[in-house]
Amino acid sequence: MRALMYLGTRQMEMQEVEEPRVTPGHAVLKVGAASICGSDLHGFLGKSAKRVPPLIMGHEFTGEVVDLGRGAEGLSVGDRVTINPILSCGRCDECLRGRTSICPHRTVIGIEHPGAFANYVSVPVASCFRLPDHVGDLEGSMVESLSNALHIFDRSLHGFIRSVAVIGAGTQGLLALQVARHIGATRIAVTDRMPSRLALATSMGATHAIDVRSDDPDGPVEAVFDMTDGQGVDLAVEAVGHTATQEQAVRMLRQGGEAVLLGLGAEAPMAIDGVAMVNRELVVRGSYAYTSLDFAYSLELISTGRIDVASMVVERDLEQGPGIFAKLVDDPGDLIKVALVPGS
Ligand SMILES: [Zn+2]
Ligand SMILES: [Zn+2]
Repeated sequence: MRALMYLGTRQMEMQEVEEPRVTPGHAVLKVGAASICGSDLHGFLGKSAKRVPPLIMGHEFTGEVVDLGRGAEGLSVGDRVTINPILSCGRCDECLRGRTSICPHRTVIGIEHPGAFANYVSVPVASCFRLPDHVGDLEGSMVESLSNALHIFDRSLHGFIRSVAVIGAGTQGLLALQVARHIGATRIAVTDRMPSRLALATSMGATHAIDVRSDDPDGPVEAVFDMTDGQGVDLAVEAVGHTATQEQAVRMLRQGGEAVLLGLGAEAPMAIDGVAMVNRELVVRGSYAYTSLDFAYSLELISTGRIDVASMVVERDLEQGPGIFAKLVDDPGDLIKVALVPGS
């Protein structure tokens, strides 16, 4: 079969490799679509220690079952599925608390196991979620992305979330803003440097689109305070991964507000005003990946049309993979999410 092989920093090529063989409890899938994650781009740049070359990446995907191993119950050949790629141990304290995404023993398909930038991939049957017929492969490959955005809110300490600031209108920012709208936030600010992304954010329900091209770190904070009549927001989501924007997220909060950090790769540790944190009872926390419950809810929101994923993802032929990765890290232009689709 054909596979997009990661061979080292900025090195990727299409190779001919052996197809995966079916093993007990597993299904072999013919890949439908596999989306490129921001974390895959970090891997491509050699900044993801867990991605050891040679590796087939791809953890956001759909496929059709073509073979089933012994004891693989609940699925049939021909079923279309999407996959929760995080394999947690189920026995550690974090797993027992339901916090499977931070299981210290977890492994991920496409990181520690061969992923879906290929014609075929092997997955545990227990990780498969059947796709309704009307959910296409591109949309199905976005279930994983939306799960990340849902996890932010799933773990929030707040009751009602009325005002939200989202820093960065990439995939995660655009999804977080839609979840904020879905759960009833009435004021939603989104910041970005690209006018096309801000326009998309507005069309998806952002009430305030804040252009941050001027590089003034106070500008977005002031705009968020203007939006909230000088109060600050209940929840700020940092979906970029820079030190300066992490600090901005905390400064955008109202009293008792919560900043959630999602973006990877910040250059340096952030500075937090500890006095303000005490006096204003601020919460700053991280959000990592998702649980199976987030995943199931994500699929439900996409299949019922509550969240628009179709307008942020475009399809490209898997054979173009090496060029697409280079483009996404060097000059993405209007591209937000790219799904690689193997030719038949
Ligand atoms: Zn991902
Ligand atoms: Zn565990």
